[in-house]
Amino acid sequence: MRGQITLIGAGPGEPELLTVKAVRKLQEADAVFYDRLINQDLLNYCSNECEMIDVGKKPKQHKVPQSEIENLIIEKAKEGKRVVRLKSGDPYVFGRGGEEGRKIKENDLEFEVIPGITSAIGGLAYAGIPITHRDFASSFHVITGHLKTEDNQLDWENLAKTEGTLVFLMGMSELETITSQLMKHKKSVETPVAIVRWATRKEQKTVTGTLETICDIAEKAKMTSPSLIVMGDVVTQREHLNFYENRPLFGKRVMIPYTEKKGMTHHLIDAGASVLELPKLTKKITKKTLKLKNTQKIVFLDAESVTHFIEEIKSNKQDIRHFQLVDFVTIGHHTELALNNLGILPSETYATVSDYDLTQKELNNVLFIGEKSYVDQLKEQNDRIHSWTPYETYSKKIENAALEEVDYLYLPSSKAAYYFIKDLTDEQLERLKTKKIMVMGEVTKKVFTTKNIPVIQSEKPSFESVLTKMIEEDM
Ligand code: SAH
Repeated sequence: MRGQITLIGAGPGEPELLTVKAVRKLQEADAVFYDRLINQDLLNYCSNECEMIDVGKKPKQHKVPQSEIENLIIEKAKEGKRVVRLKSGDPYVFGRGGEEGRKIKENDLEFEVIPGITSAIGGLAYAGIPITHRDFASSFHVITGHLKTEDNQLDWENLAKTEGTLVFLMGMSELETITSQLMKHKKSVETPVAIVRWATRKEQKTVTGTLETICDIAEKAKMTSPSLIVMGDVVTQREHLNFYENRPLFGKRVMIPYTEKKGMTHHLIDAGASVLELPKLTKKITKKTLKLKNTQKIVFLDAESVTHFIEEIKSNKQDIRHFQLVDFVTIGHHTELALNNLGILPSETYATVSDYDLTQKELNNVLFIGEKSYVDQLKEQNDRIHSWTPYETYSKKIENAALEEVDYLYLPSSKAAYYFIKDLTDEQLERLKTKKIMVMGEVTKKVFTTKNIPVIQSEKPSFESVLTKMIEEDM
């Protein structure tokens, strides 16, 4: 709905921990305001036209004051935009969602809330800690550790007495006070305690101890904010229920350029990896007309061009039988399949463009049909070739920072590999040599090896095989 503001709970960080409704609202949004704790990968759900506004606050360093955030959101909604306010975890768990909601209503604007998985529950689950358990805790308390002033302290006496699980959010800078106050009020020094930093993210780290020892342990392990502090016997269940940190690719970042299918992404996420998919390639159809004078042979360079060719001859009121005397040649497996699907068997097939002999003398009567950069590649070898380029493809620039944090790359196709490399700077190409680049097929491999960039090829052309290879590499 236009002019509406949706308060979305983004969950603890892992992009798949959003609700179905949240994903839809992000896809529909014209503007998204997001916080410091938001995993930037979530913004990939938004459309290319969506405006992303970072209003994140660092602890004790207010980037944009709360009242200003509210005014900015309201202003955008009044312009008739569909506005999303993305908050970490659940918007109503220490998220100031209630305040923002009231302000929106006071301005006579429509608003809705989409609850999210709070880190207090979901974050603990990813560390193997169930917030309640029949044998250990029949209640839980989620408490802010952001202790305002000396005389506005928590009710330590009651907190120390409760048998339920205690979870402190925003508590890292007060860890010393929290533990010492609870011990002072006679909570058992043996109470198991865990600290979980950046839960559900690749940076997740968990340490455990007791009420008495946890401060030292946290300091030695350099545990910082944002972290969850959890106290109670449920912490002991971690040794049985820790599924996430034990996954084979836990903590690894994998970049997948220009994927159109989710198969590999899902395999990687299930193996514990954090996946960065680069946006799909954008295509532009060129309006050039197809000229077929003395053509005796057509060489198709990619599958999509086969479709464009058929569309073109249809719009010229021609029939495929018109080409009975023309030889059809394909480059690449998918191109061959595309032609087969039309009931045509190519007279020659080649795995890659470089396998095609451009010195053949009858080149005059050969027409190369393909995406523009494929044709340009051929023209570098022989600028006299005849061609028809039905479309061009563009890719977004790769950020240095995004490339830096990557451990692995997986190239889903030779096309993706080709465009990925084409747009990198020389410096980025050098950096690429330090990353593990996974490929399935020979053709994709060749795109890298011709540039002297080493790759790791899977034994078989399957997702499972790529995954097995990655796990082996990691050991
Ligand atoms: N609305 C959020 C909480 C906001 S308060 C929710 O429901 O989760 C911010 C605090 O939440 C942080 O200081 C930290 O204690 C906790 N937190 C949020 N996300 C976290 C994460 N991924 N890992 C660990 N702690 C997190």
